[in-house]
Amino acid sequence: MKYVSTRGQIEPIEFQDAVLMGLADDGGLIIPESIPDVTGRLEAWKSLDYSELAFEILRLFVGDIPETDLKSLIEKTYADAFDPAPAVTVRVGPVYVLELWHGPTLAFKDIALQLLGNLFEYILARRGGRLNILGATSGDTGSAAIAGCRGRDGIDIFIMHPAGRVSEIQQRQMTTVLDENVHNIAVAGNFDDCQRIMKTLAADLDFKGKYSLGAVNSVNWARVLAQIVYYFKVVFEVQAQTGAQRVQVEVPTGNFGDILAGWYARQMGLPISQLILATNENDILARFFSSGEYSLGKLSQTLSPSMDIQVASNFERYLYYKVGCDAGRLRALMDEFARTGSLHVEVADDGKIDSAVVAGVGTQDDVLATIGKYHREYDYLLDPHTAVGVSVAEAMGVSDEPLVALSTAHPAKFPDAIKKATGKDLAHHPAIDTLANLPTRCAELPNDIEAVREFIIKTIG
Ligand SMILES: *Cc1c(COP(=O)(O)O)cnc(C)c1O
Repeated sequence: MKYVSTRGQIEPIEFQDAVLMGLADDGGLIIPESIPDVTGRLEAWKSLDYSELAFEILRLFVGDIPETDLKSLIEKTYADAFDPAPAVTVRVGPVYVLELWHGPTLAFKDIALQLLGNLFEYILARRGGRLNILGATSGDTGSAAIAGCRGRDGIDIFIMHPAGRVSEIQQRQMTTVLDENVHNIAVAGNFDDCQRIMKTLAADLDFKGKYSLGAVNSVNWARVLAQIVYYFKVVFEVQAQTGAQRVQVEVPTGNFGDILAGWYARQMGLPISQLILATNENDILARFFSSGEYSLGKLSQTLSPSMDIQVASNFERYLYYKVGCDAGRLRALMDEFARTGSLHVEVADDGKIDSAVVAGVGTQDDVLATIGKYHREYDYLLDPHTAVGVSVAEAMGVSDEPLVALSTAHPAKFPDAIKKATGKDLAHHPAIDTLANLPTRCAELPNDIEAVREFIIKTIG
């Protein structure tokens, strides 16, 4: 499998180069040249465990790592860091909750970032050289990226977060990691500012080349790829439990990375009837899927901070397929968006943007009501991101098909929301409770590209 850019202006590259490149050198996102159809293999895959399934899926997309190496990379990733498993399906009232937070930082991002850390280390060990990872986080990406890269040979990792706009716990999960190769930066701005700084520096090819800049944000193709696996896992499990042919999957969405993996899984032939896209009040994606209009709104701070995003960095991948893989058309749309803050796609005859995707908004009130209800009725604690999704799915009403709800974080990461919803201090986890007493390290920088550039140059000497 070769990789190309959504903007059509790089030569096709192999998987390892795609992993190191992060954002494509032409400013686009890296995508596989084709999407494999696995319809004929689904039956055989149903009996596989998580690592075996991950291997079968990844080998279709990875042409330049020997299969024995790929297999041991995957096994190492998913055996060590997850307890009891990367993806756990539990029936809770009307839904099948897919718990994706059994990794080191208690959010679903560990599933991709533990793999990415291992991939980086593997590639650098063979090619030599160093890699300087630059990432921006609205909360959970940063800690998961740091957990994936801490202490690894050949890697320095710089993570920007918006100062004062991630939760106390999210901040401590990052800044209490004192490994020498970990550099936290609190930027005086919001998440979109951090993301803009990252994108600008990554688009400066001289700087990117000279300082070997790599990306851990969900622009990195390996992250999307790793996330495809659990869609297969959960659909197989729910099919086995219910006998259903098709399953609907609801996904709480911010940067469009997680749901994009589900979209790829469906394109590959996995019988997902529809993907339910759920946003919080930052509803640019929900508005797009009902109107075709993708236009910047005002950023609101909500109880689900990891979804407080306006510009969804993975959306460009989806849009590329939406415009018939026409890179010229895609470039024109992205230019328009950069100029005006808005772009528009035609609505189909059936009034839909995509027959595979329905979208809705879960407000803060919905979130609190849903956490309260699931606690009272099913004795199960939803974190506020998961609750955005569950509230949207519930509002869409009943269907005959089983419903999977992706659970993206452990509730202990967001104790204030749980307290607000239930009136009680219920959300605990030992990995979180011990953070309060640990020392921290973090640089504070202004909302300024040059300040971040200087900091990186100075730090790596
Ligand atoms: C990152 C994150 C999301 C959003 O995922 P995207 O891939 O950005 O759409 C949802 N919930 C939690 C807890 C997250 O950390």
